[in-house]
Amino acid sequence: MAAVDSEWDYATYAPDGQRCTACLKPIGAMDVVRRGTLEQASGPPVLVYRHADKCPGGE
Ligand SMILES: [Zn+2]
Repeated sequence: MAAVDSEWDYATYAPDGQRCTACLKPIGAMDVVRRGTLEQASGPPVLVYRHADKCPGGE
């Protein structure tokens, strides 16, 4: 099951190779994203990224 988004920080840029957790598309180098932490049932929280604006190519 997907974990719940716990917190979203400031707008920033994602490291290369990250995917948006909302649309699952690769995040471009110039895409502004919000950084968040994803709590896991087992293990430490992981950093995740999501498009700060609307996800490109969405519905
Ligand atoms: Zn997205």
